[in-house]
Amino acid sequence: MEYRSTRGSGQGLDAAEAILTGLAPDGGLFVPKKCPKIDLEALLGKDYVEVALAVLQAFLPDYSKTFLKEALQSSYGAHFEGKAGYLTALSSQLYSLELWHGPTAAFKDYALQLMPKLLVEARRMLGRQDTTLILVATSGDTGKAALEGFKDMPGTAIAVFYPNQGVSEIQKLQMTTQEGENVAVFAIEGNFDDAQRGVKKAFGDRELADTLERRGVRLSSANSINWGRLVPQVVYYVTSYLQLCRKGVLRFGELLDFCVPTGNFGDIMAGWYAKQMGLPVGRLVCASNQNNVLTEFFKTGHYNANRPFYKTSSPSMDILVSSNLERLLFHASGDDEAVRGWMKELAEKGQYEVGKEVLANIQGTFSAGYADEETVGEEIRRVYEAYGYLCDPHTAVAFRVLHEGGALPRPTVVLSTASPYKFCEKVLEALGQQVPADPFEAIGLLEKTAKGQAPKSLTSLQGKAPRFTQTLPADEIAKAPLRLFPA
Ligand SMILES: *Cc1c(COP(=O)(O)O)cnc(C)c1O
Repeated sequence: MEYRSTRGSGQGLDAAEAILTGLAPDGGLFVPKKCPKIDLEALLGKDYVEVALAVLQAFLPDYSKTFLKEALQSSYGAHFEGKAGYLTALSSQLYSLELWHGPTAAFKDYALQLMPKLLVEARRMLGRQDTTLILVATSGDTGKAALEGFKDMPGTAIAVFYPNQGVSEIQKLQMTTQEGENVAVFAIEGNFDDAQRGVKKAFGDRELADTLERRGVRLSSANSINWGRLVPQVVYYVTSYLQLCRKGVLRFGELLDFCVPTGNFGDIMAGWYAKQMGLPVGRLVCASNQNNVLTEFFKTGHYNANRPFYKTSSPSMDILVSSNLERLLFHASGDDEAVRGWMKELAEKGQYEVGKEVLANIQGTFSAGYADEETVGEEIRRVYEAYGYLCDPHTAVAFRVLHEGGALPRPTVVLSTASPYKFCEKVLEALGQQVPADPFEAIGLLEKTAKGQAPKSLTSLQGKAPRFTQTLPADEIAKAPLRLFPA
């Protein structure tokens, strides 16, 4: 199984090299040269870890089966409370794939529980002796999921930078109380963009890299463009399909649609790979919030990031440049020269346009829609009243897009990417409740209102003492690694 860059270089790498390298030297993303097929019908009776093993062995054949099996068990067994790939029915046609039963109550746990183990094993296989220091700028969810994934992983350390304006009280507590010997968390003065700019600057800082190298440290990222983050997400598309076959909703071979709340295009791209593996996927519906650059792209072939940026109640989807789309552009065109051209135009002019053939190819699988910010609260309430089902603002965007599309042509799975208890304020407001100022009171009120139970990983934060209380100006982010690894 060989990997290559979407922009032409790095031909013939194996999976471990692609995962350890992250971004290709030419700025492209690693993709498999040829998508493997697997016998999905043979997996019908299998549990989550067994299905995951089959999918991962197909994409990562250079990793040993023993290693993968252990890594999958420790990632998705007890940590997900037996709810890895949990699917619940809203109607006979509509299903919610609850991806937030992991240790940090975010769908990113699927990728970030496994990816650090793939990285550490890649280091071992390739004989790396230095320490890999992961730097993460976060608007909330990624930081915590990455901390939990890299906690005490041998040969690695992680530093997370969150904006002191912009993450919720709960998200802040999740990060500042993080346990582990190899972790550090810093508040950054400013917003997410300031934090991200600071981290990007640290990555581009030659002098910092040289100093760290002398100290035996190499910087890396846990960004969603890493192949090791994308591939774990293919699994739950497959398990959803198999579950619906077992329930008799589908006969093997019948098509299933998926609707995915999308930001950086990693999650929905995993669905595309599942389809290439042979999974009978009908449509992949790309749901955006008010930052609807992808909706326009899928309708017209014109990607235009020159537009206002909206801060919404679904912050993980507030993105104007969806990095993983580059993978789809490459597969749909098969032309790395064209990809280089589009990405150059995007960098220089903030926009590009693909030709008719590429667009038609993409439209063969993808549809797109978006939900305005005003309709999100309304949708949380509608879904609750229609189905007795509580959903968070990200998931509500997906439900809205489906709802506006009219009757479902076939069974459809909505990927539910965050626990509603992580976004209590918005959800309570949508249900017409007064929102208490204290975040734990808000969780309690939502539990009472919806007769549900919040994830323990959230309620157990109450009263926990923060370990990390430092605030840095954004332009001092580069100093943090030097402090963590003094001369
Ligand atoms: C990251 C995230 C998304 C978007 O996923 P992409 O892979 O970036 O498209 C959607 N919802 C939530 C809650 C997320 O954390």
